[in-house]
Amino acid sequence: AYPDAQDVVEDVYAEVVRRNPGEVEFHQAVHEVLSSLVLALERYPDLRHERILERLCEPERQIIFRVTWEDDRGQVHVNRGFRVEFNSALGPYKGGLRFHPSVYLGIIKFLGFEQIFKNALTGLGMGGAKGGSDFDPKGKSDREVMRFCQSFMTELYRHIGEHTDVPAGDIGVGTREIGYLFGQYKRLTNRYESGVLTGKGVDWGGSLVRTEATGYGLVYFVEEMLKMRGESLEGKTCVVSGAGNVAIYTIEKVHQLGGKVVACSDSDGVVFDEQGIDVPLLKQLKEVERRRLKDYTQYRPQAKYTPKGNIWKIPCDVAFPCATQNEISGEDAATLVRNGCRVVAEGANMPTTPEGVRIFQEAGVLYAPGKAANAGGVATSGLEMSQNASREQWDFETVDQKLRKIMQNIHYQVYTTAEAFGVPGNYVHGANIAGFLRVARAMLAMGL
Ligand code: GLU
Repeated sequence: AYPDAQDVVEDVYAEVVRRNPGEVEFHQAVHEVLSSLVLALERYPDLRHERILERLCEPERQIIFRVTWEDDRGQVHVNRGFRVEFNSALGPYKGGLRFHPSVYLGIIKFLGFEQIFKNALTGLGMGGAKGGSDFDPKGKSDREVMRFCQSFMTELYRHIGEHTDVPAGDIGVGTREIGYLFGQYKRLTNRYESGVLTGKGVDWGGSLVRTEATGYGLVYFVEEMLKMRGESLEGKTCVVSGAGNVAIYTIEKVHQLGGKVVACSDSDGVVFDEQGIDVPLLKQLKEVERRRLKDYTQYRPQAKYTPKGNIWKIPCDVAFPCATQNEISGEDAATLVRNGCRVVAEGANMPTTPEGVRIFQEAGVLYAPGKAANAGGVATSGLEMSQNASREQWDFETVDQKLRKIMQNIHYQVYTTAEAFGVPGNYVHGANIAGFLRVARAMLAMGL
C-alpha cells in the first residue's frame, strides 16, 4: 500500500522546485541526494509513510536579515545575511558561514542541505545548517571586515548558542572573521560561551588541527580509497584547484604522503609548478599577506601563471577540486579522464556538475563526493565543541589521530553501505544513503 519509491522521489523533487523557485544550486543538491535514496526507500517503506524526504527538504527555520555597515571612507553599505537551520535531529545546528558576492538563499540552502548528511557521516552529534552573506571581503580593509562581522553578529546572536546553532567558517570566513564574530557575541550576551562558534584561534578556545582539518581529512579519505586498490599517494601527480584554506592543507598533506601537487588556482588564474607547489610560500602569500596567486611566480620564477587558465587541462593522477561549487563541467571531467586522471576527491562542496559526475562514474574513476571527503573540517569542529564543553585542550597529535580515525570510519561506512545496497564502489550512493539513514532513524524516533 506504500507509494512507489521512484514516484515518491520524483514528486518530492518536483515539489522542491515548485516551492523554491530559481534556487538552482539547491535543486541540484536535492536531486543528487534523492536519486540515491530510491534504494533506501525501497528497503524501508515506513520512511515513505512518514514523509521523511518531504520533511528533510524543508528547512526547520530560515533567517534572512539586513546587515548595515560603514566603510573606511564613511560610506554606508547594506548587505543581506542568512542563516538556514536545516535539520536538528542529530544535534545542534552546525555549519559554516560563507561571505561571497555570489551568496543568495539558493546557495545557503544547498550548502545547508549537504551539511545534514555530511555531519551525520562524521558520527558526531551535529545537525545541519549554513549561513553567510553577499558581502565581498575582497579588497576590504581589516577594520571594514571587523565592522561588517560586528553588524552581522548583532542580528545573528539571538538565533545561535552552544546547544542551539554553532556556526563556523566557509569561503571568506576564517579565524580572523570568527574572532570578530565571537568578540561581538561575547559583548552582546556577556557570556564567554566558547562552544557557540568553531574555528576559533587556539589561544581562545580553538582546537589544534581545525585549520588543517578539511584538507588533511580529504587526503586521509583518498588514502583509504587508494588502499582498497592496493595503492597509495606515493609518486602520484596531483592537481588542487583553489588557493584557500582547504587547498593549502590538501597540498601540504599530499606532499607529506609522497605525492606531488603541480598546480593550484584562484578566481583570476592558475599556477603550474612542475617541481611541486611551494607550500610555505603559498601560506605566506595567502594567509599572512592576503595577496593574489599571481604573485607566486615573483618568488618561483620557474613556475608558470596563466590568467583565466583552466586547471583541469593539466594532466594528473588525482584531482582535488577545492575551490567552489560547479567548478568541474562535463567537458572538464572528460578532459581529466582523457588525460589519465583516475581519482577525484572533492574538498569543495558540490564542485562537480551532474554531467561531470556521470562522466567520472562511467569512466570508472574513483570519485569521492564532498559530503564524505571534506567532512574532516566539520568533524574537527565537533572535536572543538567537545574540548570547549570539557574545558580541555588536546594536543595536535591527539586531534589529528581522531580526525584520521573519523575519516577512516566515514570511508568504511560509505564503502560498506554502497556494497550493502548493491552498488559497490559507488561513493555517491554510499555517502547519501549512509548519512540519510542515520538522520532518518533519529527523525522517526522523535515523532512528528
Ligand atoms: N564550512 C565547512 C563545511 O563545509 C565547515 C563547517 C563547520 O565546521 O561547521 O563543512
